[in-house]
Amino acid sequence: MRIAIEREEFTLNYQPLFDNHNSIISAEALIRWQHPTKGWISPADFIPLAEETGLIIYLGEWVLREACRQLKQWESTSFFQLPLIAVNVSPKQFRQSNFVSQVKQILAEFEVHPERLVIELTEGIVIADVDDTVKKMNALQSLGIRIAIDDFGTGYSSLTYLNTLPIDVLKIDQSFVRDINNDNNTAIVGTIISMAKHLGLKVIAEGVETEGELKYLMSAGCRMFQGYLFGKPLSADLFAKFHITNQQKKITANCLISAQ
Ligand code: C2E
Ligand code: MG
Ligand code: MG
Repeated sequence: MRIAIEREEFTLNYQPLFDNHNSIISAEALIRWQHPTKGWISPADFIPLAEETGLIIYLGEWVLREACRQLKQWESTSFFQLPLIAVNVSPKQFRQSNFVSQVKQILAEFEVHPERLVIELTEGIVIADVDDTVKKMNALQSLGIRIAIDDFGTGYSSLTYLNTLPIDVLKIDQSFVRDINNDNNTAIVGTIISMAKHLGLKVIAEGVETEGELKYLMSAGCRMFQGYLFGKPLSADLFAKFHITNQQKKITANCLISAQ
């Protein structure tokens, strides 16, 4: 894997996150590995391996650096400003003693304001070592970095952490969104949205694929979305084109409304 980084076999794809006004509010950086003989390998297959071998430390740092570099490059060459960039951080990476200083240094290196970075953590990471988590999350928050809980609802979590930790966003796992017509999932999704609202947290629905799912999510009060219905993960170049097309569509729609 270390060699694969040197050979530049890893790339990042970017998936747009939308608000209810059809604006792109963020992009999630998702890693891809183009193996010379095996072709594309899914992160679901190699991230656990990278965790086991410890190479995630190396890979995770590369992801953070590449996402920040790309954010700045879009600004200088594509003339759009993406408000936020989200990066997934895995347990071993988060547990490194120098994790916070590493993030701080990368942000400074690329002159990315900390408030533009969202770090996605899973519930498992959050509750594994509470003292270390509290310390690191507070340090990240004091820098201005935002924290999202990814795949929310799938971990064995104690909900008390929602009250005590500086969390900004809950991302409802796609398994609940996908089967939204199932009564249990409707109840789970509705409950997560209303709980987030009461706790003052933002909520994003992951894996939104159909108009029906979107309609229900909207009716339940969700205002931020990620999923194939809105846009698939794209290479950096295609993401830039997608973003510009979306901006143009919005301008056209606004002109049509004001001309009426
Ligand atoms: P995740 O962070 O929950 O990312 C969302 C996953 O859902 C992505 O899969 C994305 O392609 C997929 N997805 C998005 N919208 C839809 C949809 O509408 N329908 C369906 N069926 N899928 C959708 P991907 O890229 O294969 O990543 C899988 C997981 O691998 C990620 O889940 C994340 O946990 C991990 N991962 C990806 N990149 C990184 C990385 O740079 N670092 C770390 N530590 N983990 C990563
Ligand atoms: Mg994620
Ligand atoms: Mg997720």
